[in-house]
Amino acid sequence: MADDARRLIDFIDTSPSPFHACTNVAARLEEAGYTRLDETHAWSGTDVETGFVIRGGSLIAWRADGHAPATGMRLIGAHTDSPNLRVKLRPDTSSAGIRQIGVEVYGGALLNSWLDRDLGLSGRVAVRSARGIEERLLLVDRPVLRIPQLAIHLHREIREDGLKLNPQKHLTPMWEIGDESEGAFARFVADELDVDPAAIDGWDVMLHDTQGGAVVGRRDEFVSSARLDNLLSSFVGTEALLATAAGDPHVEMLVLFDHEEIGSTSDRGAASSMLPAAIERVISARGGDRDDLHRALAASVCLSADNAHATHPNYPDKHDPQHMIELNGGPVLKSNANQRYASDATSAATFVAACREAEVPFQRYSHRNDLPCGSTIGPITASNLGIATVDVGAPQLAMHSARELAGVADVTHYRKALTTFLRS
Ligand code: ZN
Repeated sequence: MADDARRLIDFIDTSPSPFHACTNVAARLEEAGYTRLDETHAWSGTDVETGFVIRGGSLIAWRADGHAPATGMRLIGAHTDSPNLRVKLRPDTSSAGIRQIGVEVYGGALLNSWLDRDLGLSGRVAVRSARGIEERLLLVDRPVLRIPQLAIHLHREIREDGLKLNPQKHLTPMWEIGDESEGAFARFVADELDVDPAAIDGWDVMLHDTQGGAVVGRRDEFVSSARLDNLLSSFVGTEALLATAAGDPHVEMLVLFDHEEIGSTSDRGAASSMLPAAIERVISARGGDRDDLHRALAASVCLSADNAHATHPNYPDKHDPQHMIELNGGPVLKSNANQRYASDATSAATFVAACREAEVPFQRYSHRNDLPCGSTIGPITASNLGIATVDVGAPQLAMHSARELAGVADVTHYRKALTTFLRS
């Protein structure tokens, strides 16, 4: 069990941005014999049997293995992005003799969790060259940025009012002594990439905590790490796909979407045409027609994998008393009458069957009626494709904090359940 958790931590530590997560998953897929396909090329031949595509921070991989084009699919969907702070386009600023980097908030981040952490930078940079625009990955995994909290002596009202952060005024990280210097950040990035600063035309660069993940607790029962939501599901989904084998009854597919945390509406989010297009092309490249496509969709089940809320020991009243969720109690089957989660009786039963077969415990979750319920890529994928979908996830605490908490045993439970789901 601890081995799964350690490998998860390695994956998360080396995946500070969705682009890095896709690159790391791609390396594992290629090692296992999957072929990377280019969306601008024609797809045909044996390459399309076990292949994958990447679009920015999203990745789709599949194993068709000689199945007839109309064969139903088992899909696992997760997301590669996590709430964080991202560098603005004109970030160079200064205050009180300190140079700072302007950032904006990505997704529903718990802002307080970004204070007093030693922060690095990662993402991708567009560099102009004689060959056109090149995408370069950037990783500065050393603490170059810091957002210090205001001392309590200068902030007495915090005792009564709690911490209130204005995202424009209070989250600007500092990085060196000095006055404002236009272009300083671009020069820094150019230096890191060893390119001419004038050749940098754009960036998608974000901040991350440079402290790596750890196994914690009196009996090493917990995983403490950034981005557990949802790189935990991305990791376990990858493990599940790599555990599939020739002779499994379905076509297996892994879908890792970017932009879930901001609503999935982008060229590569769950609401985009990326997945429908990939499914159609995987079928047509294997000789299938429109009818085969619709038969395959009708025979498919999607498992939307995204973490669930474990019951917090300090806030047990935040859960419906009949739906308390334990860390290390196994994956959580999420349902919601208003379809904030896509599970229904039949899709849920598919997952329950997988858990029983894998001999892993599972838990059932329904949100309190007096709190608004979150959502996942599940309902979006279900409505985009008309595929039966079940929403599941590993229990976790501190969701959307810069450092979250999950259970060590749950990583293994989740991996086993998803592997059995794909293979049955
Ligand atoms: Zn999530």
